[in-house]
Amino acid sequence: MSERELKISIAHLYPKLLNLYGDIGNIITLKQRCLWRGIDVEFEQINIGDKIKEHDLYFIGGGQDKQQEEVQAELYSQKQELQSQLNDGAVFLGICGGYQLFGHYYQPHGKDKLKGISIMDAYTVAGDTRFIGNVTVKTDFLSPSTLVGFENHSGLTYLQGETKPLGVVSVGNGNNGRDGFEGGRYLNAFGTYLHGSLLPKNPHFADYLISLALEKRYGKKIDLEPLDDSFEFAAHSSVIGKPY
Ligand code: GLN
Repeated sequence: MSERELKISIAHLYPKLLNLYGDIGNIITLKQRCLWRGIDVEFEQINIGDKIKEHDLYFIGGGQDKQQEEVQAELYSQKQELQSQLNDGAVFLGICGGYQLFGHYYQPHGKDKLKGISIMDAYTVAGDTRFIGNVTVKTDFLSPSTLVGFENHSGLTYLQGETKPLGVVSVGNGNNGRDGFEGGRYLNAFGTYLHGSLLPKNPHFADYLISLALEKRYGKKIDLEPLDDSFEFAAHSSVIGKPY
């Protein structure tokens, strides 16, 4: 099957509320890396009041506690559907506040607990320090192995059970500044604290996610035509190892 006959469907969850630090750049990257290869992209924005339908890939960005509160009830009300999609192989990418809602709950300071959709065995509690700065992560599933981005969160996320980290922090704080881990993965659900936005400077991770979404849709692994990522990896390398 040529790449010109392929298609993936992408849903952007609550972009009007959870889109901190231009996290929409992740959607732009996913779309463009498909279009450069002639892969068609069906795209849907899901806003408050919309029913979440079946897609190959779901993206949710970050936000302040207030915006997370506004999204939480809507997201939680569709928890079963989203868990079912995960079990069918759908890909999820959540950034920071969106990532926190992938777990069982996010406990802000002095407010009611925000129930998450439990597509990850994880939980988040508000900390007393705001972690701000560049992050470099060493993964064991990407080549090159590094992921780079920018963090700004006070939430401390702890992983449990079968939910594993994306990697180990070599610069920055990551999930909680204590266990040395950054992000989380369970099946094809990925969460991370890395803003930036993440994917423009991590094209190898963008392609990893696109490949998984194609595999979910077509039931087989589909190799992607390589792109000239010299510019993207120059940006990637310019951040590696630097805290600011
Ligand atoms: N409000 C959450 C926190 O501060 C998430 C912030 C974000 O999405 N950058 O931890």
